[in-house]
Amino acid sequence: MEKKIFIVIAVITASLFFYGCKKKSETLKPSKVDDMELTEIQKKLGKYVNVKLTADISSLTSKEKQMLPLLFEAAGIADELFWEQALGDKAGFMKYIDCINDEDLRKFSIINYGPWDRLDNNLSFIKFCGNKPGGANFYPLDMSKEEFNELKDSSKSSLYTVIRRDNDGKLKVVWYHNEYKEQISRISVLMKKAAELAEDPGLKKYLNSRADALLTDNYKQSDIDWLTMKTNSIDFVVGPIENYEDALNGYKAAFESYILIKDKKWSAKLAKYSTYLPELQKALPVEDKYKKEVPGTDGELNAYDVVFYAGDCNAGSKTIAINLPNDEELQKSMGSRRLQLKNSMKAKFDKILVPIADVLIDPSQRQYIDFDAFFANTMFHEVGHGMGIKNVVGNKSLTVRQALKEEFSSIEEGKADIMGLFIITELVKKGEFTDQDLIKNYVTFMASIFRSVRFGAASAHGKANMIRFNYFQERGAFVRDPKTGTYKVDIEKMKLAMNELLNKILVIQGNGDYLAAKNWVEKDGVIKSMLQLDLKRLTNANIPVDIVFQQGPEVLGL
Ligand SMILES: [Zn+2]
Repeated sequence: MEKKIFIVIAVITASLFFYGCKKKSETLKPSKVDDMELTEIQKKLGKYVNVKLTADISSLTSKEKQMLPLLFEAAGIADELFWEQALGDKAGFMKYIDCINDEDLRKFSIINYGPWDRLDNNLSFIKFCGNKPGGANFYPLDMSKEEFNELKDSSKSSLYTVIRRDNDGKLKVVWYHNEYKEQISRISVLMKKAAELAEDPGLKKYLNSRADALLTDNYKQSDIDWLTMKTNSIDFVVGPIENYEDALNGYKAAFESYILIKDKKWSAKLAKYSTYLPELQKALPVEDKYKKEVPGTDGELNAYDVVFYAGDCNAGSKTIAINLPNDEELQKSMGSRRLQLKNSMKAKFDKILVPIADVLIDPSQRQYIDFDAFFANTMFHEVGHGMGIKNVVGNKSLTVRQALKEEFSSIEEGKADIMGLFIITELVKKGEFTDQDLIKNYVTFMASIFRSVRFGAASAHGKANMIRFNYFQERGAFVRDPKTGTYKVDIEKMKLAMNELLNKILVIQGNGDYLAAKNWVEKDGVIKSMLQLDLKRLTNANIPVDIVFQQGPEVLGL
């Protein structure tokens, strides 16, 4: 640990950072300015509403209940690893926070895994911390893009390596299992213990192979075992998974973990929609060459109550659905598993979406704000990720992800959102949903855009939402009443705009058109002034932006 040059030393003035306690009287004494800052922190903290993460565990067997504490402990280590990836020296940072002795600042720092407000474009909320480095702690802070490009090492763009400097100051590539050796072996041991308790053979196999995968950074077999596991009641997602934290290149995966309890009744309801995927793929509003790939049909859709979020997924805006694995090859051959996190979804709907609609949706359409529609939109967003195109047309060895580089996440999230709406629209034709349902889906979808862009446009999801909002606006898919400042959806125009937008995204992805993606995201992935003012009305109405969790074994009643 101590041999590392931590990111925070460079980001936050080292002397203040480590000697902050001693110097507190001179440099950190609360002044009027600081008092104002503290109030600011309280305001920021008010963006979050507390939610207890609970689930009915009465149907779990006693062995399953014994597994849970082991999984909580392993997830806690994944959480520590995310701190290290996002910030660097958590202990030093928290020591500094302790010196300031402000409970609100402490809470807010923990929510954000560092001094940057993840719901406000990663702006620093601690005065002398600079902007968040694009590459977080995955790369040396002083590394230029050119220097990275010149590095001759094929694993430099792997999801599972960090870039460090060797003794001569030259860049080198280090695998996660070496960089984080000690923590990873602890997670692995805990998972093996949990595997011994597992009664479901699929879960047992997966826990064992995932524990091995972490030790080698070779995740394929464990992903296959995870997809093969069908009858488990508990699920445990762990590892370096999403690449949003690497805003520099979008290459590096950040550690996270979820502990989940399956809702078997809901899962059965969801299972049948997966069977529609191949025909929905064929119905995509795009030239044939962009829809030749066949989406996996073995993928499944399940509802879960989540009882623990750790690391990446617990930082900033909270995911309410998971679609894994990210491995494109596996997605094509086996499909993916989509987990709908029902309890946190319901919490966001009740505490955030309904109050937003009461401010921003036209009164005549508020009746259409509906949890089942919200649930369906989120569910089909995840299905949407599995559809469309994974490889650039005419170049089987180039994935869309590689071609679109750092713009991939924004475009892909935008695709999934609009694809979700498209799928529902198609399922109405098949009699699975009614026209009335569709109105609810469209209006709830519109309200959801407001909910998502309140996170700012820094994240991939935020940019995707702004691109769509601006696109919809240009095409009259909604109208804003200037007198009341409320938005009314035009169902027919939204349908047209949806098809055109989906077409545009699929063509950019299929062509692997990096420049088109980049220009588009730069031009439209921003919050314009009118919307900014409307979002401000949500803040003024004290509507929380996101949820934070009271979570852990005690909350669950273990
Ligand atoms: Zn997504």
